[in-house]
Amino acid sequence: MCRHLGYIGPPVRVGDMVTLGSHSLHTQAWAPRDMRHGGTINADGFGVAWWRVGADDTVTASRYRNAAPIWTDPAVDEVLPQLESAAVLAAVRSATVGMPVERSACAPFTRDRWAFSHNGVVPDWRRTLTGVAEEFALIAAELGAEDLFTPARLLEAESATDAATLWVLLCDLLATGAPDGEWSAAPAALRLLVSAILDRAPEARLNLLLSDGAQLWATTCHHSLSVLVTDDFALVSSEPFDDDPRWRSIPDRSLVSARPGALSVDALL
Ligand code: GLN
Repeated sequence: MCRHLGYIGPPVRVGDMVTLGSHSLHTQAWAPRDMRHGGTINADGFGVAWWRVGADDTVTASRYRNAAPIWTDPAVDEVLPQLESAAVLAAVRSATVGMPVERSACAPFTRDRWAFSHNGVVPDWRRTLTGVAEEFALIAAELGAEDLFTPARLLEAESATDAATLWVLLCDLLATGAPDGEWSAAPAALRLLVSAILDRAPEARLNLLLSDGAQLWATTCHHSLSVLVTDDFALVSSEPFDDDPRWRSIPDRSLVSARPGALSVDALL
């Protein structure tokens, strides 16, 4: 179990999204309320992504990560509040048994404008995800994309963890989907990934969180998730970080799409 959070809305101080509220992500690291048999505390590091717009209008996700417990890192109070962004994706980690505790294993995983986090576990992850990659490689080859889902791609995972490997697979799915800028690619990619994994490992726990800086997508598969969406902002969080009555708990096996003024919660499978 880990805890993760996504925000889209008016620019905020990036550090605030980690520390805001009586039950902030910072607090959820050592006193989570809803772990669902997935560990006790989230002391194996943390990470935060924010978005920058370049001179050529290219949107890029940047990040800061540390493998130490979030409450030991002074950057949370001294550096992250100096950054402003209209989108934030953050996570605190409880490493799955057998997986390394290192900076490169901490979410968010990023590429171009995308940032990603995984709360859960893929049973027998090497065999399971290799099987998924082989299945997807056949489809990609028919589409002329022989370089996707290959063993070489899997070896590009930043860390030897299920989460880092999921990110490689999701990036390749996003690359095979609709052209850049088409939001519809993300829900389809998440659905394909979750269902291919559950086919092989029905006990898999797959709360995924993805953002391109303009919209949030999330899945629930075993772990908790809540959303709070108004006309001004959208929040997706493993646990509500304050007692605002507008937080809405998401049922298991859902696919959430959220941005300011728009929320959809659909069946995942
Ligand atoms: N399995 C992932 C990891 O080890 C996520 C862990 C979790 O959700 N606790 O990083």
